[in-house]
Amino acid sequence: MSSINQVTVLGTGILGAQIIFQTAFKGFHVTAYDISDDLITQAKQSFSHLAEVYLKELPGTTRAATQAALDRISTTSDLSQACKEADLIIEAAPEIIELKQKLYAQIASLAPEHAILATNSSTLLPSTLAPSTGRQDRFIALHFANTIWIHNTAEIMGTDQTSRQTKDKVIEFAKNIGMVPIVLNKEKSGYVLNSLLIPLLNAAGFLVSEGYADPETVDKTWKIATDSPLGPFEIYDVVGLKTAYNIIATAGKAGDEKSARLSQYIKENYLDKGKFGIASGEGFYKYPRQS
Ligand code: NAD
Repeated sequence: MSSINQVTVLGTGILGAQIIFQTAFKGFHVTAYDISDDLITQAKQSFSHLAEVYLKELPGTTRAATQAALDRISTTSDLSQACKEADLIIEAAPEIIELKQKLYAQIASLAPEHAILATNSSTLLPSTLAPSTGRQDRFIALHFANTIWIHNTAEIMGTDQTSRQTKDKVIEFAKNIGMVPIVLNKEKSGYVLNSLLIPLLNAAGFLVSEGYADPETVDKTWKIATDSPLGPFEIYDVVGLKTAYNIIATAGKAGDEKSARLSQYIKENYLDKGKFGIASGEGFYKYPRQS
């Protein structure tokens, strides 16, 4: 196993819970931190739920293995307790820059000197958080995808202050927890995946909102021409139309007129009608109800 043995995850929400369970499932001791005991109680329910999901969705998973994973997770709402023995601290706190900066300033003095800090932030460049960490050479972005046990990429992106040793240790850790490391050479908003995906989804959306083609035609073209299993509008439905709307509306508010029209189109035709994508049973397409 790597020189990283003891892992702490800050935040036990959607992604935090997944990172915690996956890391424990792969044999690491994990300390899960959240800001109240109520949230810790909820987190324990999330871990048990994930244990069931792994049993159902990952062939070959045994109940003994998921139970062992649960047994390797300890929980606390005491930040100093959470940080004090960590080799790696993964931050999966809400996507609010001031909140994250404040959190890093706290853990800077609580974590052992050698500990590496990693942010799971989807949209904030690590350089915006690095100065708060007090250890810029040991700070990096380690970005997981939702449904980590299936979509097992870990995008790894340092700032120009991140040391080679930190990057190498985090790459090794990512592999050890069953991820495929996707390493960027330098900072890029959107990492690799969203740098590709967002322009594709925008282009597909504009074809429809500007009246050139319907979603089925766009998807059919993409799938036949590129052998892709999903078309852009099927991907919209997976991502969820609220998330897509928020990103596109932000670009619209920043002055991009086509984005403003596309966000309005999604709002009027889908969100206002309760069509949010696969999770709600209907988005651009209809889906059988999930059990
Ligand atoms: P979430 O809202 O589900 O969870 C955030 C958790 O952080 C909550 O449990 C909350 O109680 C806790 N929290 C609040 N204040 C905190 C503090 N001061 N210190 C520690 N924890 C605190 O959010 P999420 O969707 O899990 O996202 C968390 C991070 O992961 C964000 O940076 C987001 O960009 C990133 N991310 C999310 C996804 C996704 O699909 N949801 C995918 C990749 C990355």
